[in-house]
Amino acid sequence: MNKNIKSKMDILFKSLVVFLLLLTMTFFLSMQNHHLNIDDYRSSTLNQATVIRSNLEHEINTSLNLTLGLVVYIANNPDITDNEFAKIAQQIMQRTHLLRNVGLAKDNVISHMFPLEGNEKALGLRYLDTPSQREGVLRVINSKQTVIVGPIELVQGGLAFVSRIPVFLDEQQTDYWGIASIVMDAEVLYESAGLNKSKKFVDFALQAKDNMGISGHTFFGDASLFENTDNIILPISLSNNEWFLATRFNPEEIPYSTRTLLTFFVGLSISIIISVIVYFLLMTFKRIEYLAAYDTLTGLANRHLFVDHLQEAIGRYKRNNIKFSVLLLDLDHFKEVNDSLGHSMGDELLNAVAHRLQQISRNTDIVARLGGDEFIILQNDVAEFTDSARFAQKLLDEFKQVFILDKIQLHTSVSIGIVTCKVDTLTAELCMKYSDLALYKAKQSGRSAFKFHNEAMSLSLLHEIELTADIKTAIKEDQFHMVYQPQINLTNGTLMGLEALIRWEHPVKGRISPVDFIPTAEKRGLIADIGLWGLNEVCRQARLWLDEDIHFEKIALNISAQHIKAADFTRQILNALEKYQLSPGCLELELTESTFVDKFETIQTVMLNLGKKGVTFAIDDFGTGYSSLSHIKNLNVTYLKIDYIFVKDMLINDGDREIIKATIDMAKALDMITIAEGIEEQEQAELLTEMGCNIGQGYLFYHPMKAKDFAKIPWKQLNS
Ligand code: C2E
Ligand code: MG
Ligand code: MG
Repeated sequence: MNKNIKSKMDILFKSLVVFLLLLTMTFFLSMQNHHLNIDDYRSSTLNQATVIRSNLEHEINTSLNLTLGLVVYIANNPDITDNEFAKIAQQIMQRTHLLRNVGLAKDNVISHMFPLEGNEKALGLRYLDTPSQREGVLRVINSKQTVIVGPIELVQGGLAFVSRIPVFLDEQQTDYWGIASIVMDAEVLYESAGLNKSKKFVDFALQAKDNMGISGHTFFGDASLFENTDNIILPISLSNNEWFLATRFNPEEIPYSTRTLLTFFVGLSISIIISVIVYFLLMTFKRIEYLAAYDTLTGLANRHLFVDHLQEAIGRYKRNNIKFSVLLLDLDHFKEVNDSLGHSMGDELLNAVAHRLQQISRNTDIVARLGGDEFIILQNDVAEFTDSARFAQKLLDEFKQVFILDKIQLHTSVSIGIVTCKVDTLTAELCMKYSDLALYKAKQSGRSAFKFHNEAMSLSLLHEIELTADIKTAIKEDQFHMVYQPQINLTNGTLMGLEALIRWEHPVKGRISPVDFIPTAEKRGLIADIGLWGLNEVCRQARLWLDEDIHFEKIALNISAQHIKAADFTRQILNALEKYQLSPGCLELELTESTFVDKFETIQTVMLNLGKKGVTFAIDDFGTGYSSLSHIKNLNVTYLKIDYIFVKDMLINDGDREIIKATIDMAKALDMITIAEGIEEQEQAELLTEMGCNIGQGYLFYHPMKAKDFAKIPWKQLNS
């Protein structure tokens, strides 16, 4: 899966986890709330049960107590008349709405009934002869207690409880009169106790039928309520009878309260908001992390990240001998694309190159952009280094395929420098440096090529380090000397001047050519010291010759670009001239074209100031650098030196000859004197003279020579 998508999925997953955690918390809080709500309902249920119990006790006991009044009356008036009974019964019934009728059964035969209407048939009923009544009546007689039975279905319809109270005429309860009975309407009882009201989330049940105790039948509600010990079971005391009220609370029926729902939805919203914030924060962090490690243009790893990977690879190599290679790539002629097609096209090309590199590389390889048109690949898990060569060749081949950008076809090629992990003391820094050297070599070999940083390259680096140390010693120990090569007027053969050329006799390594050590001295910042030594040496020699009356016209000294840019260069020249009491006209300074690539104005000022004093200037090796005519035109240059490489083949190469001719003509137009270098053959000298060249220098005339050898030549005579 694409890395980017993977990390986005990762962030999404993390945000989701945060969301789920918060949601769980929200859910937990809401449930907590709901349970508090249930607890409230539970305690209100207990209250309800207590209220119902006391209502039941109140209703029944009130009726029984009222009936007791009748019982007391009979005890005093055993021959109670119908009228008296009706009066008392009416009064009793007025005081409670529970009673349906009141009856008396003297000697267990129903003798009085109120109201009589509808109950006439009951009069004269003999309890003990009636099977349905007998047992209940005997319980009353035997227990001498009030007995409540029911609920029973009444003949006239409806359910009722029958309460029978035994009537005795004496206090000792030996003189039995009969039974007083009341019929209590069950529906009215339930209603007034509050059992019939619709109750939310709660069920009630009552037992025991016929006053049969806790094991008796349930006559109201669901009998199973008495089976569960979790339910509340309250006893109901009715005279000497006992009922039980069972109450079951049904929490699962309780709906979620508004507060609970609000808690949940607010929590849900907060969870969503926080997860979204977390998502965007993580994305921002990822972006910051990305910017620190990736190239914004191409999306490839940047130098920083690449070095991290490289260090890991070095670690793997040192620990487990897992080999790797580093391939440094540089687009050939990218600058031209940028200059000719614009930067946006350049950027598009870089992007296309990045894409192509990634396609060619394996997943385990790291492709990075170091900046500009420089890319680098870490080839991991290399079995043999020929694999790296094959990979590099593949890269070169792939780049032969044209890039099509905006319908424009672009051909580009790369140069590749390869470093393999052969050295045990390898560091990331060395790796990058070596790859750079290898790339340089690849570029030099003609581009669209790859080169390994091999032993020879390491040696050249080593050589450079040694050479630097040697140069330092040479300056300190005065190992340099100068040789002088005469410059001859091509038309009349007279001496026009000398070029001073440095020589180094190394005490152990022998002669070292300036071609070998001058570039290193320039690279390592030692050239100004050498230049200063040369300046003093040349001036000292000039003074000697002047004193000895030896004719030399002027001495040309080669000056490096770095040296002339030094802050005290003008001072150094003037000091030397003054020290040896020389006229500035004795000194000519040779500068190569590369001197003018930067700090043009500084050099121009130096040349102007010294020129005013009389010092002359020559452009050395003209035609090999890239200075433009417009540059030279603005400088006070007296001499133009045609380089040896053109003179060398001028007799056989038309092109070289044409360049020489053009240079001479141009110099003439600019009022400059031409000096041809490296003339070895007579024919060259003749042709150059013919072309209008003024001065010649070369083995044909003189090799560079020591000062004492120069002094032996009778110049005065030659010149005259
Ligand atoms: P250059 O300034 O162009 O010097 C001319 C080079 O051509 C000298 O090489 C000289 O020996 C060589 N030469 C002269 N005539 C002939 C000829 O007929 N045929 C051939 N093949 N070569 C000829 P040299 O002395 O080895 O110096 C090489 C370069 O080193 C010089 O090139 C100059 O750029 C640099 N150089 C020499 N001395 C100094 C110095 O004192 N300071 C600085 N900065 N550079 C110096
Ligand atoms: Mg020179
Ligand atoms: Mg030269």
